[in-house]
Amino acid sequence: MPDTLAPELKPPVRILMGPGPSDVHPRVLAALAASTVGHLDPYYLALMNDMQAMLRSLMRTTNRMTFAVSATGSAGMEATVVNLIEPGDAMVVCVNGVFGGRMVDVAQRAGARLTRVDRPWGAVFEPADLADALAKAKPKVVGIVMAETSTGAWQPIEEISRLVHDAGALLLVDAVTALGGIPVEVDRWQIDALYSGTQKCLSCPPGLAPISFSDRAMEVILARKTKVQSWYLDASMLAKYWGEERVYHHTAPINMTYALYEALRLIHEEGIEACHARHMRNHRALAAGLAALGISYAAAEGHRLPMLNAVWIPAGIDDAAVRGMLLSRFGIEIGGGLGDFKGRVWRIGLMGHSSRANNVFTFLGALEQLLAERGHRFEHGASLAAANEAYATAASAT
Ligand SMILES: *Cc1c(COP(=O)(O)O)cnc(C)c1O
Repeated sequence: MPDTLAPELKPPVRILMGPGPSDVHPRVLAALAASTVGHLDPYYLALMNDMQAMLRSLMRTTNRMTFAVSATGSAGMEATVVNLIEPGDAMVVCVNGVFGGRMVDVAQRAGARLTRVDRPWGAVFEPADLADALAKAKPKVVGIVMAETSTGAWQPIEEISRLVHDAGALLLVDAVTALGGIPVEVDRWQIDALYSGTQKCLSCPPGLAPISFSDRAMEVILARKTKVQSWYLDASMLAKYWGEERVYHHTAPINMTYALYEALRLIHEEGIEACHARHMRNHRALAAGLAALGISYAAAEGHRLPMLNAVWIPAGIDDAAVRGMLLSRFGIEIGGGLGDFKGRVWRIGLMGHSSRANNVFTFLGALEQLLAERGHRFEHGASLAAANEAYATAASAT
């Protein structure tokens, strides 16, 4: 027993507008506090089924192996890679930001013979960028990030999927930030393995990684010559827990499953298209506001994610000071740059429950105050007017 009792738990209420975690919906917080049942309780087993059904519908898939890995998004990455790759298998990974780079590391640790294809940060991959690597490496798996949270770039998947399958490979997609914010079409785009995370556009705390394997991917996994290196993430064993048999594998994080269940109910209640449209509407308003302050985007025009706005920090403005004041004066968290973008970009998230007009206006108003204090020149109030204009245009279009 320490001499004095540690302080009472009293986390401040923040406005989470960074690259994740994002604001948790109050109904999701309430779900977390519901009473815990056993992980083989009939109530929980029924809840798992309903949660899986809602996940399949959000991912637009009929894949039976659609479930949630009991850990964060990176564990989803690890689960897809270590199940599909046996030591010595060829894999191509597309890298245009931090998370493609992380996938390279995970694949190398799994023993992949790795070919890395690079594009500049902020750019996306065209099918032609992959043609050479596919012809030379003849990969078993190609990995790509759909929503690169470090740069705000939106990677189209459909055409690349065609090329990958023509080359006889499986397609692995990182949809950690994508799912819930932009359309993800697992079956139509023939994605073989896809993973996400609860704390980006699903309005949950971090803790689960929704994941889906196509039947083709499961055949490959069940035909492995070697055991999956990770006992915890072995999909053949997880299939017995998440499938009909419900064989105990590990104690599922029951209350996090409640949270994801409620978060998925919220999205289905709103409507999947309406949810995507909300993300786009708030993004356009924020983008209009930032443009009025002379702030521009790091990602290529036409490939900007609505939920992650990576923007160049205005010249002469101190990155850390502004982010510090946003937090201390206004309770607003935004993200700084990672890797190549460190000190050069701000990452403003409008993900899940964070994607609200309240947040757009609060943030723009706060930013105007901090920029004005630092001598950045702009017409005061212009960002709020521009955001209002964008909302009015969106309203008259519907
Ligand atoms: C956040 C993120 C991850 C990692 O997820 P964690 O939940 O932090 O483990 C992976 N990929 C992308 C694109 C992400 O945005």
